[in-house]
Amino acid sequence: MLAGEIRSAYAMTEPQVASSDATNMELEIKRDGDEYVLNGRKWWTTDAVNPRCKVMLVMGKSNPENPRHRQHSTILVPRHTPGIKLVRELRVFDSLHSPAGEAELLFEDVRVPVTNMIKGEGCGFEIAQGRLGPGRFQYAMGFVGMAQRCLELMCSRVEERVALGEPLIKKTSVQHEIARCRCDIEQARLLTLHAAHVMDTQGMTAARPLISMVKIVAPQMAQQVADRAMQVFGGMGVCQDTMIPEVFMLARFCRIADGPDEVHMSQLGKMTVREINEG
Ligand SMILES: Cc1cc2nc3c(=O)[nH]c(=O)nc-3n(C[C@H](O)[C@H](O)[C@H](O)COP(=O)(O)OP(=O)(O)OC[C@H]3O[C@@H](n4cnc5c(N)ncnc54)[C@H](O)[C@@H]3O)c2cc1C
Repeated sequence: MLAGEIRSAYAMTEPQVASSDATNMELEIKRDGDEYVLNGRKWWTTDAVNPRCKVMLVMGKSNPENPRHRQHSTILVPRHTPGIKLVRELRVFDSLHSPAGEAELLFEDVRVPVTNMIKGEGCGFEIAQGRLGPGRFQYAMGFVGMAQRCLELMCSRVEERVALGEPLIKKTSVQHEIARCRCDIEQARLLTLHAAHVMDTQGMTAARPLISMVKIVAPQMAQQVADRAMQVFGGMGVCQDTMIPEVFMLARFCRIADGPDEVHMSQLGKMTVREINEG
């Protein structure tokens, strides 16, 4: 994976349960001698149908008798293990987002060696937390860059495009939209840089509230900027001629993927009260 030759997929979300509360996850992981046997259904597994995807990290319930956050495990499953069935590919706004889109998968008596268990039974949430933090931050950096590109596209378009005898940049409403984009991008950029600085100098635990903040702020910012850019571009803004629709789509679904906005806001709200009241 480090050499970029293969990819992995992360299978956590399930169609039949509200997966924003990951403790609802039902895929069964049961030990049978030297193997674990997996049964259940996953969906929205990014890259699972990418031809370069060779391995999946599958999260499921292995220890239902344990306390709530120790019931689940994460296990490595080679992508083409017998018993994994592709139910369908999923499209975001009816378009394929990754090279081969997201997938819905059925696991029927999928067997893997016990050595494929990561860290140990019941460690699923610990592992998920470690993976999702940096992932969320990486998205935020990307959104700052994508929004900046939308702004640059807008800036060149408004000088070229003439309506009612003058370039669009002469219209006050257009000037205001550009100004709002710049304010929003700059705020998100500084927040992202600050989060990176705290991660580097004080570690992940100290950076947790800031990671939640960038996960909430950056996709909303990029969605807003892309939306304004679409309006300024007119018809061209919603077709395939620019990257604007893709930025809008990515930003919109990232407000759901890796935890919906509301879940991060609740966590951040609780962390904030604790920090302020307990010092
Ligand atoms: C393009 C895309 C790629 C994805 N990639 C992956 C992947 O690779 N692997 C993977 O496992 N999953 C992936 N997901 C799934 C994603 O992480 C889930 O969709 C997400 O966690 C929400 O779960 P859910 O869809 O079951 O929504 P639900 O849990 O049904 O929630 C629905 C809505 O309820 C509201 N809600 C939920 N909880 C609260 C709360 N506490 N307070 C207030 N409101 C709340 C929110 O508005 C939320 O959007 C992807 C999703 C998308 C769209």
